[in-house]
Amino acid sequence: MTDRSRGARKGSSTDLGGFGPTSAGAGTVRMDPAFIPVLLYHAIGEPARAGLERFTLSDSSFTEHAQILTAHRDGGATPLLIGDLADGLRGERPLPTRPFAVTFDDGYDDNLPAIIALAEAGIPSTIFVTASFVGQSGMLDAHELRELARHPLVEVGAHGVRHIRLDELSRYEIAGELRGGREYLQEITGAGIDSVAYPHGAHDRRVLAEVRRAGYSSGVAVRNALSRPGDDPFAIARWTILDSHSAQDLHRVLGGGLAIVGSSERLRTRGFRVVRRSRHLVRTLTGRAG
Ligand SMILES: [Zn+2]
Repeated sequence: MTDRSRGARKGSSTDLGGFGPTSAGAGTVRMDPAFIPVLLYHAIGEPARAGLERFTLSDSSFTEHAQILTAHRDGGATPLLIGDLADGLRGERPLPTRPFAVTFDDGYDDNLPAIIALAEAGIPSTIFVTASFVGQSGMLDAHELRELARHPLVEVGAHGVRHIRLDELSRYEIAGELRGGREYLQEITGAGIDSVAYPHGAHDRRVLAEVRRAGYSSGVAVRNALSRPGDDPFAIARWTILDSHSAQDLHRVLGGGLAIVGSSERLRTRGFRVVRRSRHLVRTLTGRAG
């Protein structure tokens, strides 16, 4: 399969409810069309992973985020896979008026039920996987990644081989990280891998030159900023979600607001219904015991 055929096959995400009823639900906020929120999640669940506490969202917080994202979509915003967003930034397809994107980094195994829960709600996700992490304890394995890559609302992207800063490597090593991560994931998923997330967000001109040579069509960084129409599709900015961010913070990011404040109130109202249901579904889907 070619790079482009994958983008075309998964392009239906641009049609997902983007122009439906605009009834203003509780989670709907004013959206500045000049900004494209691209959210970056890491681990989900309890207890938080050692060393990753700030970057781990509890199940209940994630369920609340999923509800907010769904309300945002129902309010007229359009969630996109990163490949589709990059195509829009390049002008190869029209960008919907209020695009946003959800991404996950590194390849934690708890991302599987979270991504399926979002997909059931009609929210596509892009997961960036570090090749050397695949199959390790607590990380997604090759079978799970293959299942995710087959899902029409999921894009699997690369995240290097060793999860090291690319801007500190030689040009030869940069190429090895970019090509190695892509080729490995293509081999185990059987899908085209077109997008990459730079480990630690680190990229410079040499990295941007090599990422094109390695055959990618898009790249995402971590700038804790919102992307904009016209941005470089190889340096898409993302907003890192931390455990200290409140529901109100997520509303502000989705609304184009940059003034992220520390944790205020944390609303824990709906429990784990969505995530639990999806875990059951995933077990059924993959035939795994747990
Ligand atoms: Zn990472």
